[in-house]
Amino acid sequence: MVKDTATTAPAAPPPTPPAPPPLDDEPLRSLLGLARTLAFLVALVAGLFFLILLALGIFRIAVGGSPASLVAAAYCLIAAAVNYLTWRELPALELLASQRKYGLLKERLIVWTVLGLIFFVVVGVVLALAWVRIDLKAGPYAAAPTGNPPVCLRCGERATLIPEFGRYYCYRCSAYLW
Ligand SMILES: [Zn+2]
Repeated sequence: MVKDTATTAPAAPPPTPPAPPPLDDEPLRSLLGLARTLAFLVALVAGLFFLILLALGIFRIAVGGSPASLVAAAYCLIAAAVNYLTWRELPALELLASQRKYGLLKERLIVWTVLGLIFFVVVGVVLALAWVRIDLKAGPYAAAPTGNPPVCLRCGERATLIPEFGRYYCYRCSAYLW
């Protein structure tokens, strides 16, 4: 029943199946949207802390005290800059999520996750959750090496990658794997 088409010339490529139903990646997009809002708020708060600590540090130095709060002010300034840049970057990451380019998304997400955890934690935690979400949703498929497509869970047939939609399709079951 299984035709061996590997040795013969591809006379007629299989017809492109109908477009798949949209993936339920709503949680991922929600997480990225939440991270974007939080990044903006954290940038504002960090900027405010910077101004307060800067004023405090200058005052302390003026009265001959410790300039320790200037170090904290510097940290807040970097945190404000990092969270602002995260806020600027997130629309591009959300676009990658909507295009289901999970491999590329994870590569870029890791940098912002680590930076977010170092600078004011909040955004980093949300981005880490988004990271976990991608792994749960797309991990086995994103990690599958090229040329070794996943197997249909219903019939065991090798699935075919449909490049138009970035999804795997089983021609025997006429269904998408995910
Ligand atoms: Zn199947």
